[in-house]
Amino acid sequence: MGDQPVHPNNKIYVRAMKGVFQRLRRYGGWFLMSLFMLTPWIPYQGRQAILLDIESQQFNFFSVTLFPQDLILLAFLFMIAAFALFFFTTFLGRVWCGYTCPQTVWTFIFIWFEEKLEGARNKRVKMDKSGWSKDKLWRKTAKHLCWLAVSLVTGMTMVAYFVPAPDVVFGFFTGELGFASTFAVVFFTLATYGNAGWMRTIVCTHMCPYARFQSAMFDKDTFIVGYDVERGEARGPRRRKEDPKELGLGDCVDCNLCVEVCPSGIDIRNGLQYECINCGACIDACDQTMDKMGYERGLISYTTEHRLEGGHTDMVRPKLIGYGLVLLVMISAFFVTLNMRVNFEVDVLRDRNQMYRETVEGLIENTYTLVLVNKTQQTSVFQLKAEGLPEHEWVGPTEVEVTAGDVVDVPISLAVDPYELERVMTQIEFVVTTSTSEDTVTIDSRFFSKR
Ligand code: SF4
Ligand code: SF4
Repeated sequence: MGDQPVHPNNKIYVRAMKGVFQRLRRYGGWFLMSLFMLTPWIPYQGRQAILLDIESQQFNFFSVTLFPQDLILLAFLFMIAAFALFFFTTFLGRVWCGYTCPQTVWTFIFIWFEEKLEGARNKRVKMDKSGWSKDKLWRKTAKHLCWLAVSLVTGMTMVAYFVPAPDVVFGFFTGELGFASTFAVVFFTLATYGNAGWMRTIVCTHMCPYARFQSAMFDKDTFIVGYDVERGEARGPRRRKEDPKELGLGDCVDCNLCVEVCPSGIDIRNGLQYECINCGACIDACDQTMDKMGYERGLISYTTEHRLEGGHTDMVRPKLIGYGLVLLVMISAFFVTLNMRVNFEVDVLRDRNQMYRETVEGLIENTYTLVLVNKTQQTSVFQLKAEGLPEHEWVGPTEVEVTAGDVVDVPISLAVDPYELERVMTQIEFVVTTSTSEDTVTIDSRFFSKR
């Protein structure tokens, strides 16, 4: 059995590794990070394309503006994300953890800075054991400054999804950002620095709930990172030209590379462990050793428990089909709801304190508040009228201008001669049309009178 990684103060010294999966993760990580950082800077029709404006309670996503009334779409999005996670975890194991989770992406970016500034793994171990010197001081300082710079950009980017991006950047450095947003920037900066710089896979093993419940989604046909015990054991060192069979050895040369490159500090040869984030670093490491020894690659590979036991892997299975179908239903429901969404919305609220009141002219008056929501990107004029009442007086505006993405409350009253009313309660309708849409919205309401 090889040595465990060096852990002074439980620190894991990750060895950098080259290979197919590392390239995939590195390029994927840079792409995802760039996408995250640049998205708030994408303009669309003179404003930020994606902005979750909490103050005005609206979410701008290119040409679509969502309001609290559209919460159902957000619920669908969460369900789509959840079922996509279930589907891909059942199929490919913890591929989310290894390649796309921000914790992993940022951790590997921080490790990249560590490697560039403090050197390779063995050099870092030696440096940490040695006393302070000028060289150690500048290297450590430079590393932490780089980590903090990336963390600060991350913190500002997080807030730029909620506050216009230029305001965040200029406001933060000029002190004009406001307390809540400045606090959020500082909070996300420290959280990034702490999580990716110091905590790393401790977050995955001790804090992330996903690591705990993933086992419920795994089955024997789920792709995991696995070590072929049959082929690898008995492990042991040997010369390249020596025949392992003659020495009574398997293909594992016990080089310990798979352990040294593991960000979780585990030995995959001990079997499937919940700390494994499926990053594939040990596969690249082992393939490198196999190439050097002239052995076939794949002693450690993406495989399934069934395959490791010599059996057959079922790609299509009931659990996977179930998750896939629910995912398709959720995606369809999301787009159908989005398509059916009208460009403006009207709500009618009755005065809760008084059913009706009598005016000095002897008319019966009911009071309402019409809530007009303009979900388009242009100013719109709303035309208002009531139907279902005999001749009546409309007290309030019949035309209201609502700017793009705005919500306006319009208090109005309807007054009717009581002798014209046949019942105590009359069913009425508010009919609203707008200048920017051909749709007409009709809202049912009631008009109360005295007995
Ligand atoms: S065991 Fe391999 S795949 Fe799992 S976390 Fe460690 S290096 Fe990544
Ligand atoms: S990298 Fe491969 S050969 Fe080296 S110890 Fe790990 S399993 Fe054995």
